[in-house]
Amino acid sequence: MDDKKKVRVRYAPSPTGYLHIGGARSALFNYLYAKKYNGDFVFRIEDTDIERNIPGAEQSQLHDLIWLGIIPDESTENPNPKYAPYRQTEKLDIYRQYAQKLVDMGVAYECYCTEDELAEMKEEQLANGVKSFKYNRHCLNLTEEEKEKYRKEGRKPTIRIKMMENHEFKFHDLVRGDVKFNSNDIGDFVIMKSNGIPTYNFAVVIDDHLMDITHVLRGEEHLSNTPKQLQIYEYFGWEPPKFGHMTIIVNPNGKKLSKRDHDILQFMSQYRDLGYVPEAIFNFLFLLGWTSEDNREIFTKEEAIKAFDPSRLSSSPSMFDNKRLLWTNQYYIKHMDNEKYFEFIMPFVKKANIPSNLNDNQLKSISLIFKNEIEIGQNITNMLNDIFVKKTDYDEEEKVILNSESAKVVIPLFKEKLEKLNVINQDTVKNIFKEIQKETGFKGKDLYMPIRIKLTGSMHGIEMFNIIDILGKEETLSRLI
Ligand code: GLU
Repeated sequence: MDDKKKVRVRYAPSPTGYLHIGGARSALFNYLYAKKYNGDFVFRIEDTDIERNIPGAEQSQLHDLIWLGIIPDESTENPNPKYAPYRQTEKLDIYRQYAQKLVDMGVAYECYCTEDELAEMKEEQLANGVKSFKYNRHCLNLTEEEKEKYRKEGRKPTIRIKMMENHEFKFHDLVRGDVKFNSNDIGDFVIMKSNGIPTYNFAVVIDDHLMDITHVLRGEEHLSNTPKQLQIYEYFGWEPPKFGHMTIIVNPNGKKLSKRDHDILQFMSQYRDLGYVPEAIFNFLFLLGWTSEDNREIFTKEEAIKAFDPSRLSSSPSMFDNKRLLWTNQYYIKHMDNEKYFEFIMPFVKKANIPSNLNDNQLKSISLIFKNEIEIGQNITNMLNDIFVKKTDYDEEEKVILNSESAKVVIPLFKEKLEKLNVINQDTVKNIFKEIQKETGFKGKDLYMPIRIKLTGSMHGIEMFNIIDILGKEETLSRLI
């Protein structure tokens, strides 16, 4: 390949679903590749599987990418006229013309076999011990008369590519090294369906060629498609891009990540709604398929671009570790400057059942108390609900403490002292506890636990002094009754 050619990579989802982990990871590595080598990252749409397309999927794919900071240089919303259109269904004529070229060259042909006939062919081959079905070339050499006869029967042809005989497709995969396939193992496959719509393996080649794509990083499930695509490049005499097939993502049990893994959220929108930080997900996805030389764990986007080296893409499956994702997210929350933190956290604060008398400034200072505690934004909603929603259904252990000797002394005394306080803050409240300890001799659990349970309805959770701070004098007193 001409080394001076500008690097151009792409993420080309089918709009059959929303942006999920695997897609986001593919997009991320293509993006890094582009940015590392001063190239362009293109977002385009492979929508030829029309029945499976979902309304809104294209927009959410694009916007979720942008949310993650994976910003395309060209996209369906920001097309470069030189390369438009960016949706396959808008360029059907182009595919038809290229398919016709192959037919005219004698390397593709019309196939009139029906679905039923193909199914029968498959069954026959299976019965004869053939492991993977290959089209038997029934229609390879049809005469014009035979074709006409089929057409009269109402049959509409597909177009199949005629695979070369005993040809080796070799390429250097950016992840797996040298890979080769023999053309004899691949049947003549359909490039245009009978409804005039191209198949993925055909359209992707035309798109990658016309869009000057130089490198393709995609999921391992596409490895077996690559020789089919190389056959098309070969017939047209086009130079193929360089390919890299990224390893699968596995769950902690070592199984391929699937939609049935309920412990692992699949879609970026779910992460956003729960209060994951886009920079943290970017960082996490970066290490889900790539390892740094020194096992470093935190990378900003700029650092990832700088550090990225395609030769370190992992060649073994990447394990999706929820704990590491949470750890990374917490790290990013802790290290946000306060302005950014407020912007991020306030929607989650406001989702809680907060008393209406608290204004935004008070809520902001309350939110700071949690900055080092939360792993995801939604934690603060739950923690605030625990605090603001008064709980009175105590369990057995809590009841025992509330009926203890110390509780009978400490609770009224604390209430009495608190009523007299003008300024309530951590220091003044701590002083009260010191006084009570001195006066009654109760300390530790005996001293704090009855108050804690009265205030929060729970023996665990956020620090009691913070809770008093958050509740304020009146509400604290009302809970001590
Ligand atoms: N539309 C394909 C997919 O979503 C893209 C395959 C490719 O990158 O060539 O898997």
